Amino acid sequence: MKHLCAVVLSIGLCRPMTLLTRRRVREARMIAKALKSPRHPILVHIIPVRRCNLSCRYCNEYDGVSKPVPTAEMLRRIDLLAALGTTAVHLSGGEPLLHPELDTIIRRIREHGMLAGVLTNGYLLSFERNPDEVSKKSLKVLDQKLQWLAECARFDVNINSVLGSAIRNPEDALFVTRRALGLGFNSTVGIIHDHSGQLRPLSQKQKTIYDEIANRGEKKFSDFVHYSQFQNNLAQGLPNEWHCHAGSRYLYVCEDGLVHYCSQQRGYPGIPLDQYTPDHLEREYHTVKACAPYCTIGCVHRVSVIDQFREQPRESLSRFFPQGLPAPVRILKWLFLPKADGRETVFAALTLKLFRLR
Ligand code: SF4
Ligand code: SF4
Repeated sequence: MKHLCAVVLSIGLCRPMTLLTRRRVREARMIAKALKSPRHPILVHIIPVRRCNLSCRYCNEYDGVSKPVPTAEMLRRIDLLAALGTTAVHLSGGEPLLHPELDTIIRRIREHGMLAGVLTNGYLLSFERNPDEVSKKSLKVLDQKLQWLAECARFDVNINSVLGSAIRNPEDALFVTRRALGLGFNSTVGIIHDHSGQLRPLSQKQKTIYDEIANRGEKKFSDFVHYSQFQNNLAQGLPNEWHCHAGSRYLYVCEDGLVHYCSQQRGYPGIPLDQYTPDHLEREYHTVKACAPYCTIGCVHRVSVIDQFREQPRESLSRFFPQGLPAPVRILKWLFLPKADGRETVFAALTLKLFRLR
């Protein structure tokens, strides 16, 4: 689980507003495509290097020695993901910035028209491509990086802080959240999981901090994308009733090129990416995962929300927004939700055409 997730959008030279608008259109297209087509991967996490420059004691996703995956092999894997119809590819690790040709890999993702993202701890972010190696893990160092990002980033940045039993100072999460929001970034909080992705209960103090972070800011449309109701349940020690579509809508491709359900269920199904077919996607869409009720893997929950919405739109909206729908979502509901007799609205048909999904 990363402390900081910088979501890289594009490596073009367009003006920031143009980039932002294009990003929003691509995101809307991604959701529309996911709602229409039920079996392509929506999000893939792929590992370009397992090594990390930090050693968080709760983490089981890194080592200190691995070499980067050769660039030619990474590009081949990106091509295979594109052939499966993948919408978004996020580079994870380890620390992906330790890969010497990350830019080339991101460029290949974008050439396929897929959304690109990087999950990084942020300590190697620098104005130069080859940063120094002496970053120390401290809020002071992180704060400097955040200020640089605020000044220079031409991509969306989401700062994710974590809470849980292995975190010595839970107040740090509050500090990071306040700073991230103050600098205009998105901010999320994750709950640390055990070695199989399962909940480790929060203490009373951690719960209080979690509530404070979760309740910050107004409810807006992006809450649908950054859905966190599952986490509110987990923070109270409650299970979630949901269907995990890992292995189908979400894939985790490790440094050896094997497809796994997620970072915490490696080995299942453990099939080489070049042998992964639409039949596997179909099978895993339906496979029930016994680890689902107490699963804390946020990205898989959020991806599965799209399918919940496709299958049961009205019920899902009530579940995502128990306090009532924000205005933009009310408008979208009016425009897109099928009529009572199940027929598509004229606006929804036009939008699918606009996004070239029909
Ligand atoms: S990958 Fe590295 S930075 Fe991220 S949680 Fe693990 S040890 Fe920490
Ligand atoms: S429920 Fe899905 S995402 Fe969560 S640990 Fe199990 S396989 Fe991974």
